Amino acid sequence: MPAAGHTDNRLSQGSHMTAQQPIEEFPARAPDAKTVVVALGGNAILQPGQVGTFEEQLVNVDGAMRCIAELVESGWRVVLTHGNGPQVGDLLVQNALAAKTVPSMPMDVCGAMSQGSIGYMLEQTLLNHFHKRRLEVPVVTVLTQVAVSAKDQAFDNPTKPVGAFHSEAEARKMMLEDGHVMKEDAGRGWRRVVPSPKPVEIVPRAAIVDMVRNGICVICSGGGGVPVVRGKDGSLSGIAAVIDKDLAAALLAKEVAADALLILTDVPKAYIHYNTPEQQALGTVSLAEMQAYAAEGHFKAGSMGPKVAACMSFVEAGGTAVIGSLTEVVQAMAGEAGTRIVPEAGA
Ligand code: ADP
Ligand code: MG
Repeated sequence: MPAAGHTDNRLSQGSHMTAQQPIEEFPARAPDAKTVVVALGGNAILQPGQVGTFEEQLVNVDGAMRCIAELVESGWRVVLTHGNGPQVGDLLVQNALAAKTVPSMPMDVCGAMSQGSIGYMLEQTLLNHFHKRRLEVPVVTVLTQVAVSAKDQAFDNPTKPVGAFHSEAEARKMMLEDGHVMKEDAGRGWRRVVPSPKPVEIVPRAAIVDMVRNGICVICSGGGGVPVVRGKDGSLSGIAAVIDKDLAAALLAKEVAADALLILTDVPKAYIHYNTPEQQALGTVSLAEMQAYAAEGHFKAGSMGPKVAACMSFVEAGGTAVIGSLTEVVQAMAGEAGTRIVPEAGA
């Protein structure tokens, strides 16, 4: 129970939680259990119209983790990943506003902070749902560096807006003094833009694979990972960039040899002719069909585009991929909801 006088308004906890069992007493998960990498969209943490208080985020995350607990209860081993856009955005604003009082942290450090804070909320609420269901599955959040290539063409053309809006004068000063690339954002002001390079290596993959094999529910690669590059000698260093979380999830799913990739978002399916009178929901689609739709430009860059690209790259590697709504998790894995991409027509 919270200490007396502690007034923050968190989810109420049972006061009779049993002590954690020693790890060797956890029953090993069935060795033949199938593994799914689940990528949570931004709506799992923050809903439209909310400002992003800790309490709001915790309530959203709690609801999402109830669905993940259901999935684990239905027999799946789950590896969880998540977005972090609004959370990193807030950290960058905090840094900018407090810069005269405390030193600002670079973007990669803000990404690492957000993996910690979001991982904490996911881990705690998921453990609470496991506890209610008497599921003895350990949950661990892994701070995940994800390496990108320094030669990635994305570095020549930064496209991803991050952080606060600025006046043109402020933006010009930041370009000169900090070397940031600043662009005008749809009439709303000037914003810093950073590159969005492709993920090439999940740095702690061996540890993640080991934990997944041992039946641990791993939360990792949050926000697409903390972006790093490897020097010629193999050394790692952080860079200012944003890796798409869905593309990182596909790489993660390949690395852990997952059976399935499940991308959860705020729409129940992917559509062709999205937002037009001809809009048509996609159910089960072959890889070849999906490639054709993607080539026709049905999936928007920066939102549905990377989800479809992530699914296609995972299916090419032999898995099954589903895009669906956070409210239909178990149904999506049972083939009753969402857009399912399969290797061949009729599969
Ligand atoms: P997330 O935080 O889950 O990654 P995104 O906003 O990046 O969410 O992606 C989901 C959004 O993609 C949907 O809300 C929808 O507006 C948009 N979208 C773009 N094209 C399509 C499409 N062809 N089918 C479905 N949704 C699409
Ligand atoms: Mg997205």
